Amino acid sequence: MNTTQTSGHIELRGLSMAFGSAQQRVQAVSDVSLHVSPGEFVSIIGPSGCGKSTLLNVVAGFTKATEGEVRLDGRAISGPGSDRGVVFQQYSLFPWMSVRRNVEFGLKMQGVPASKRETTARTLLGLAGLLAFENHYPDQLSGGMKQRVGIVRALATSPQVMLMDEPFGALDSQTRVVMQQILTNMWQRLRLSVLFITHDIEEAIFLSDRVYVMTARPGRIKAEIEIPLPRPRTAEMMSSLVFTQILHKLRNLIREESLVAMGNELDSGGLEGFAVDVGTHGVGELI
Ligand code: ADP
Ligand code: MG
Repeated sequence: MNTTQTSGHIELRGLSMAFGSAQQRVQAVSDVSLHVSPGEFVSIIGPSGCGKSTLLNVVAGFTKATEGEVRLDGRAISGPGSDRGVVFQQYSLFPWMSVRRNVEFGLKMQGVPASKRETTARTLLGLAGLLAFENHYPDQLSGGMKQRVGIVRALATSPQVMLMDEPFGALDSQTRVVMQQILTNMWQRLRLSVLFITHDIEEAIFLSDRVYVMTARPGRIKAEIEIPLPRPRTAEMMSSLVFTQILHKLRNLIREESLVAMGNELDSGGLEGFAVDVGTHGVGELI
């Protein structure tokens, strides 16, 4: 954690979220309290459908919680804001704009002058290894590059926090590993607070200072695990004893919840839409 950073403190207290009418009420999240300290990288993992995206959407200000409160630096969140950058699994770039124009978009909306926009965009594109592609268009880029542009675009307006919902979920495993290294390197340089959602346990350990594990729906916090690996993080750390021990612990916690989620699906009349988020490991290996 970066102790010099003073802003970007996220606090969720007693957050609950239900969807639907009284007859068809779905309790997605129940009484979740968590925090991200300024400059900290925190991940949330949990079985599919446990309410991870719901939580992130509340913090982003896209939806309002049924109960509880969300604060950013002490202020209640009441809607989206430029203090929070958001990255989803889908790339959501503007296809008719070049890479650099995509990155500059938010700054342009804020009325930042062209020369300043260009400097900011080029600096961040350089950090992401994309400067040579500034004049390319999104459909000329690979999936990993598009997602890097998406991250750079979210960073361009200097948010205090980044909210990332399975940003590498659509990428193949080799690209994912490269993206994880790029993200951790960028974070090391910029040191903003990150709330990161993933179903990949190794990804969560590799990137994070702390990991929250959620229960099956309705999602509650089941465990909170510190990741005491030193920074900067390197690929070699993934074969360290500390990494392996945490991986084992998290796999067990997730397996328990995946079994609960599976039971819920069976109780509610079938396995339609059933999916267990077990990262890169097959269900067969885990159960
Ligand atoms: P996760 O991201 O952990 O997979 P979600 O937050 O997307 O889970 O969903 C949690 C639960 O809330 C699921 O059962 C989902 O079907 C339900 N849900 C999410 N969004 C809505 C919505 N807009 N309307 C109704 N139900 C929803
Ligand atoms: Mg989700």
